[in-house]
Parts: sequence; C-alpha cells; structure tokens
Amino acid sequence: MSRKLKILLVSAEVHPFAKTGGLADVSGALPPALKKLGHDIRVIMPKYPCTTQAGKEIQNLKADLDIPGFSQKGTLFQSELGDKVPIYLIENSEFYNRKHLYGEPGSDYPDNVKRFAYFCRAVLEATKTIKFKPDIIHCNDWHTGLIPLYLKADSWFSQTKTLFSIHNLGYQGNFPHSSLATTGLDESLFHEEGIEFYGQVSFMKGGLMFADTLATVSPAYSQEIQTPELGFGMEGILQKRSTHLHGILNGVDYSVWNPETDPLIPVNYGPTSLSQKTQCREYLMRMFSLRLNKRTPILCMITRLSEQKGIDLIMEAKAVLNKLDISLLILGTGESRYESFFQQWSKERPDHIATALKFDESLGHRILAGSDMLLMPSRYEPCGLTQMYALKYGTVPIVRNIGGLKNSIQEFSDKTGKGNGFKFPNKKYFLKSLQKALSCFNQTKTWEKLMRNGMGKDNSWECSAKQYSRLYQKILRS
Ligand code: ADP
Repeated sequence: MSRKLKILLVSAEVHPFAKTGGLADVSGALPPALKKLGHDIRVIMPKYPCTTQAGKEIQNLKADLDIPGFSQKGTLFQSELGDKVPIYLIENSEFYNRKHLYGEPGSDYPDNVKRFAYFCRAVLEATKTIKFKPDIIHCNDWHTGLIPLYLKADSWFSQTKTLFSIHNLGYQGNFPHSSLATTGLDESLFHEEGIEFYGQVSFMKGGLMFADTLATVSPAYSQEIQTPELGFGMEGILQKRSTHLHGILNGVDYSVWNPETDPLIPVNYGPTSLSQKTQCREYLMRMFSLRLNKRTPILCMITRLSEQKGIDLIMEAKAVLNKLDISLLILGTGESRYESFFQQWSKERPDHIATALKFDESLGHRILAGSDMLLMPSRYEPCGLTQMYALKYGTVPIVRNIGGLKNSIQEFSDKTGKGNGFKFPNKKYFLKSLQKALSCFNQTKTWEKLMRNGMGKDNSWECSAKQYSRLYQKILRS
C-alpha cells in the first residue's frame, strides 16, 4: 500500500446495524477489508431503532450536533464494526426514530428530502466534531448525494475528495423543485449542469455531477448505465463522466456467509462434506411442509419483490413451471401484486411451492443452505450478492446475463466441467436454461462438480478492497 488514508464511508444502511438489501452488506463488509489494508477507515449512518438489535454496544458520545439550516439538533453515538472499525450513528428522533428506513411498505416517507438532506449535513458536522479530517469521503447511493455539494462550500474540507458509489440507479431521490429550500442549496444550482433533473431536485444527480469520482458495483453495470435502456435518464451524465466512472465487483463477507461455519444453518458443510447439505434440505422440507421425492430440486429466490428482480418472468412461466418436477421457495417482501401471486401459488400447490413474505436474515441463510438452485432473473442487477452467497453454499445460480450477474457467474459446460451456474440472455431463453440445469442436476457427479466449482471460487472482499484502495489513491493524485 502506498499511503495510509483517512477514509469516511457514508451509508444509510450498514449490516448488522440496519439492512434492507445489498447496500448494507457492502457498507458493513468493505470497511473492515479496507482496515486490513492499513487504512484509517470510519463509517457513519443514521441511528434507527433497529440499530440496537445488532447486538453491539452503542455509546452516546454526548456530542450535540448543530446542523446548518435545521433547528433539530443531532446526537452522536459510536459503536464498532467488524474488527475495530469505528462506526458513528447520528440520532435525531424526529427523522430516524421510525419502524422502517425509507418508508412504509409500498411508499416512501413524505419527508425523505428533509431526512436525508439533514443526514448529509449532519455527516459533515459529525466529522468536524470528532476531528477526523478525511482524505476521502466515500458516499453511497442517493441518500448521500448532497454531501459532495455541501462539502465544496466548507473550507474545513478543502483537502477532502469524494467518491460517489452507485448501488442502484433506479432509486434516485428525486423531489419537487419546491423542496430545494429544505436542502439549503442555492437556486443557482437548479439547472441542467447542477442538481435539476426533469424539473425536480435529484440527490442522485448531485452525487453524479459533483463527486470527484464515481464508482459502481460491477464492471458490466458501469457500462450498462451509460445506455438509455438502463441509465434511468442519467445516461448522458454518465457518458460525459465515463473516464471518472469505475466498476468494482462487490465481494462476499465469508465470516457471515460460509456454510462451514455459519451458525444460522441446521448443519454445517463444505465442498468435502456435501452429503451434509442434504440435512439442510430436509430441514427446509419439514419447515415448509414440502412433500418432494429425493430427486426433486428445490429452487429458491431470496429477494425484494420488485419489478427489477424479474418476478414477471416467473409469473409468466407459472404454467410451464407447474409441469416440471421442481419445488420453489420464495423469501421476500415488496409489491403487493407479487406477494399475492406467490401466496396464491403456494396455496394451489402447497407440496411444492412455499412463500415466506418477510425480511428474515436467518431464514435467508437456511434457505440458501437447503436449496439446490437459486433463481435470479433480474431485469437489471447492479451487482447482486445473493448469487455469490449461493455459490459458496453449493446452491447453483440460474441468472439473467446482466450486470454483476454477468461478471460473477460463468456458464457451466458439462463437456469441459468448467463454469459455476447457468445464464440466459433474455426471457425467451429462461426455460431453456432451466432445462439445462435440471438435466445436469440429474447427473449426480456432474452436479457435484458444478457445486464444487462455485464453492471453491474466491469472491472475498480482499480483492475488491484492493481495487478501492487503488482508486482512492488515484483520486488523491489527480
Ligand atoms: P438488492 O440490494 O438489490 O436488494 P442484493 O442481491 O445485492 O440485492 O442483496 C440483497 C441482500 O438482501 C442479500 O443479502 C439477500 O440475502 C438479502 N435479502 C433480500 N430479501 C431478503 C429477505 N426477504 N429476507 C432476508 N434477506 C433478504
């Protein structure tokens, strides 16, 4: 490592303190990996009621934060992430003392513009309070998008550079023009080269336009977001900034996701003890009252039930799937049309289809361990972590060939014995890909080879952290 850096990573969710999806996994795992490389890395997030369930000691620093433009004071708390990475939590009862992070299921909180403009401001005030002058502030997703703007107006940060990471361009934090006053930003910024986006104030655009450098969570997605199909209207900006846009594939935290040590699964197993996985499968069959013969594969999905995740493709294939000798297990929450569809389907075929409509971290581990295959037919997928976890659990991914799925899954060939999953280019080829998987599943030796290929692949954070480290150094040199 050329230079030990001071880095502040900012995120609205960090595992194990708060999680709705992959953003939390990344924000919880990348910092400890950067610390191992010798950097002075700290993390900051809002303090929600769920943060106390992380089982970590959280200390009140008894430091009041005065937030410019807001009458509500913040209070700063501190805890620890992984092996001694300091994490700071900003408390404000009016903004963060709520059951959900972003809104009730199906809708956003109406004051999100206030909640996250406040967060962006509070991050900078907290940084001054703890007297930590970062070389780099690493912002993540729209909730942090105003930080690069606020920072430019504050001389305390004159030497600080910003990296803005896009985890999902589909969520942009766009608000009516009238909410500009809430952000405290000047009207002069409300134009095409500023934070105006089709007549709205866009936090995401703030990050994209004003951060020194941009990153996203896979090389494939960094290209896809520069196209009208997956750019969500931001493709022009991303094309202009393409020399400052880097795709770094996320990693897996094997201290959490490893079937050999996972305390959340019924029986531990690894590449040399694959027969133990059968017990995890039997556990699932009992738990969900599935009545399957030994050779019926269990397919699973562990996912937000949103359009992004390609649920429509499963809905359209229902009749054909019913004719196949497969079982399907869904763990997810989200849009009610998808929830009702799966609920209804499991009522029709309770022996083969099971649905758990909740967010349940521990059940996610058990389902991954006991299933034979994971389905990820996502319409777009910035990185996707579940398929990388599935590999480690010997649960073979069947995925759409897009985004991070493209980068992390290699098509299996039963001729060469190489590859770790199955990929289809579009919905026309989904069933063909599934059939290929089912045919391999029927050849025990071939299937075991395929499972072991996935289990042996090293997707640890170490490699991604080195890439981030090099990127931070590059930003500071430029
Ligand atoms: P995204 O961030 O788009 O939701 P990712 O695949 O990157 O998708 O990450 C999703 C993370 O959330 C994974 O850790 C996955 O296991 C977890 N997850 C998603 N839905 C659920 C659920 N209903 N219960 C438990 N874990 C879930």
